[in-house]
Amino acid sequence: ASMINQRYQSMLAAKSVIRELAEYATARGREIGYENVFDFSLGNPSVEVPAEYNQSVIHRYQTMSSMDLHGYSPSLGNTQVRGIVADSLRRRFGIPYETRHIFMTSGAAGAIAHAVRAVTSPGDTVLTFAPFFPEYVPYVEGAGARLEIVPARRENFQADTDAFLQMLTPDVQAVLINTPNNPSGALWSEETLGQIAEILRQKEEEYGHDIFLISDEPYREIVFDGKKTPYPAAFYSNTLTCYSFSKSLSVPGERIGYVAVHPKATEADDLALIFGQISRGIGHNCPASTAQYGIADCIDQTSDLSVYETNMNLLYDTLIDLGFTVTRPGGSFYIFPKCLEEDAIAFCNRAKKYDLILVPSDHFGLPGYFRMAYCLDTDKVRRSLPVLRRFVETEYP
Ligand code: PLP
Repeated sequence: ASMINQRYQSMLAAKSVIRELAEYATARGREIGYENVFDFSLGNPSVEVPAEYNQSVIHRYQTMSSMDLHGYSPSLGNTQVRGIVADSLRRRFGIPYETRHIFMTSGAAGAIAHAVRAVTSPGDTVLTFAPFFPEYVPYVEGAGARLEIVPARRENFQADTDAFLQMLTPDVQAVLINTPNNPSGALWSEETLGQIAEILRQKEEEYGHDIFLISDEPYREIVFDGKKTPYPAAFYSNTLTCYSFSKSLSVPGERIGYVAVHPKATEADDLALIFGQISRGIGHNCPASTAQYGIADCIDQTSDLSVYETNMNLLYDTLIDLGFTVTRPGGSFYIFPKCLEEDAIAFCNRAKKYDLILVPSDHFGLPGYFRMAYCLDTDKVRRSLPVLRRFVETEYP
């Protein structure tokens, strides 16, 4: 009999719809030219890293001593870099973060892995809101906790606070949120965050235990209409902010992010140290020192993110014109319309005939919708619009 862990074997057997679609798109691209495949499947940034990032890394390779640049970084992250992150958050959000509140991670994935482990024990429940990033399932279950889903508020993809209040039972230790949202593009308002915080405080008091908010924010800087993302930690002090530079600086391959512990969170002074202990068990070591220096040198910069707003407007206007029910995204690089038939998988399969690669919503915890990732050249988005029209007018006359 195989001694391989059953849990991982069954994960292997469960197909990843998004990965399969991306593979299909690549294979189809080899047949007809990838420029003719309208591949809206993957959330891989489509804009250049800022020149300063590369310059900073090159400069450090040229000028720093080998031991300083390539030696082990402290396990919580480079101390100077942690200080630069704390300083930036303090300036931007007016919350008095210090170096000791910052823990450097391998992107948001690494950040969430530590945050969930720090504030839950095996068997505890973590709540999140539909629609949600499907990787939340392995992030939470990998920590031994259970993920439960608050149903979507379909009108605008803000939080269904009534359902949240009902589902926030005493066994819930943490609540995982994501704004701007993958897949819906929703930017949660100050009003929504205020209500969530109020409910959390009320239940903490009622149950007599902490309930941590884990805020996943890789799209914080990708917001539209000149808005700023309301900062969840500003509404609730038991917040662990999980950030990634993957999307804001277009460096997902560098694997760099952080957890910021709100200075007023319970045991705020110890949580980063606890993350360090968690790392020992899960085999995470701090991110590569070059990536840490790279982001520190560009801490308040982003790539030129304007293409995402341009693409969003083109797609939104066309989808509305074609009769789709769709919430206008406030940020991220995703849009999440309702399908024109009940079965999202059937809908997306039909779209494939037109070389439109759309992701059915079933894995996002809300059947009947589809996600388009529009991190593409605007030219390609423009060329996709008549194809979308032909698809809809032919298949759903
Ligand atoms: N959370 C959300 C909502 C995401 O969309 C992603 C990546 O697409 C991640 C987390 C993981 O990002 P990272 O590359 O920083 O690990």
